[in-house]
Amino acid sequence: MADNPMLKFVDRDQAYPAKRAATARMDDFREIADRYAVESAEDQSARCSQCGVPYCSVHCPLHNHIPDWLRLTAEGRLREAYELSNATSTMPEICGRICPQDRLCEGNCVIEFSGHGAVTIGSVEKFITDTAWEEGWVEPIVPGPSKGQSVGVIGAGPAGMTVAELLRVRGYEVHIYDRYDRAGGLLTYGIPGFKLEKPVVMRRVERLREGGIVFHHGFEVGRDATLDELRQKHDAVFIGTGVYKPRAIKAPGVGAPGVVDALDYLTASNRKGFGDAVPAFDDGSLDARGKDIVVIGGGDTAMDCVRTAVRQGAASVKCLYRRDRANMPGSQREVANAEEEGVEFVWLSAPEAFDGTEGVSGVRATKMRLGRPDASGRRAPEPDPGSEFRLDADLVIKALGFDAEDLPKLFGSADLGVTRWGTVRIDHKTMMTSLDGVFAGGDIVRGASLVVWAVRDGRDVAERMHGYLKAKAKQERLAA
Ligand code: FAD
Ligand code: SF4
Ligand code: SF4
Repeated sequence: MADNPMLKFVDRDQAYPAKRAATARMDDFREIADRYAVESAEDQSARCSQCGVPYCSVHCPLHNHIPDWLRLTAEGRLREAYELSNATSTMPEICGRICPQDRLCEGNCVIEFSGHGAVTIGSVEKFITDTAWEEGWVEPIVPGPSKGQSVGVIGAGPAGMTVAELLRVRGYEVHIYDRYDRAGGLLTYGIPGFKLEKPVVMRRVERLREGGIVFHHGFEVGRDATLDELRQKHDAVFIGTGVYKPRAIKAPGVGAPGVVDALDYLTASNRKGFGDAVPAFDDGSLDARGKDIVVIGGGDTAMDCVRTAVRQGAASVKCLYRRDRANMPGSQREVANAEEEGVEFVWLSAPEAFDGTEGVSGVRATKMRLGRPDASGRRAPEPDPGSEFRLDADLVIKALGFDAEDLPKLFGSADLGVTRWGTVRIDHKTMMTSLDGVFAGGDIVRGASLVVWAVRDGRDVAERMHGYLKAKAKQERLAA
């Protein structure tokens, strides 16, 4: 009987691709992990025990065919592995890089539960599709026979890009409108290069453009057209505008120069990476070089800010968070990376006031203690009286999360239904909003979420929009 290439987890240790040393990676914005050599990818894939009910897939929002592409990789059949992985995802190499795998596929791998360490699913996924790009296996988008109908996509983030690709393949004319000058949404301007190098995003964008998708950059819906105008122009519209209203801190001095929003800071840094002129960076306002930095928040955005500040050459970087390590929303993997790079975490601490009028000079804070669990299930922090302290700071970055903008007002569409959080309300069966022919997905429906969920929504919406457009074409034929 031929030797089974799989089930090697007992005698083969889990091995992620090596990370570059902290001292080396602190000087640049390149990704921190090396890529697998072919043999390592095959060896690591072979650790999978090919579960009959693969919990990894169940907990992957895209329900990727993980055990199947792991087996093909272990057998050296990389091209087939790529085709299978690509069948359920529009950007597997991006998800392989930035999904919080410890909470999704890998966190639910049975081998993890049995104490052997999960199969390194994300790293293998990234390896497969990076190889496919290099080998020329990634096919161009070939539009199906023209349907004679057009779709308007508002927002060129992962949700909008996915809808656009899947509808273009079905033969629709697709126009994407985005207020930025480059596509990709937060993949391009939010997430730093050390997690996701920009050429990886740009080659996906180029593929869409070459497939005939028309990009309208610098086009802000609400300013350059109302939603109704786009509805007149297209047979259906998708809203994938993400969430961009930063949550505020109410504390004296918060308006001082040098207290800035996380996304302004990260966008400036990403723009510099593209070689853009960024006046607010070039005049030093959004540059951490030589400064004492305090970042406020405990999510992934805060982690990206502290690690960006390290790379810009900050004198010191501290992260102030009101809960403790165990109760923070950000990924533990990112905290570990940040600590390796010299970031100091000040747990159980919240800002009370900001010193300085000409420019911020310090943060006055208080220690917190954890009380009873709140609505999110995490223990609610409360101030610990008499524990006030102060941190020096030349730049304070607020990273407390994002809420939805007021889309009905912005779009001039009072009848666009939204939830009490301002996110767009959809019918979860049809994925349509309160407006006929207007669909929505990604962060603007879920609130701040993940790239993989934006891709999943894009996939589901494309399916529903196709159904809607078919029915509409039929109705129009009957009426003619
Ligand atoms: P977005 O990516 O936000 O794209 C929305 C697009 O709509 C943007 O291009 C915007 O310019 C455009 N737009 C908005 N309003 C208008 C308008 N009126 N007219 C025209 N265009 C408009 N997720 C992960 O899975 N892993 C991570 O490591 C991770 N790190 C993150 C780090 C940061 C700093 C942030 C902020 C988020 C991170 N996320 C991460 C979350 C992830 O980026 C989002 O969940 C995802 O990008 C949402 O996709 P989207 O397509 O819904 O929206
Ligand atoms: Fe895991 Fe994300 Fe890839 Fe799914 S898409 S297999 S959750 S890394
Ligand atoms: Fe393989 Fe782990 Fe998925 Fe089971 S849960 S199929 S071992 S990757």
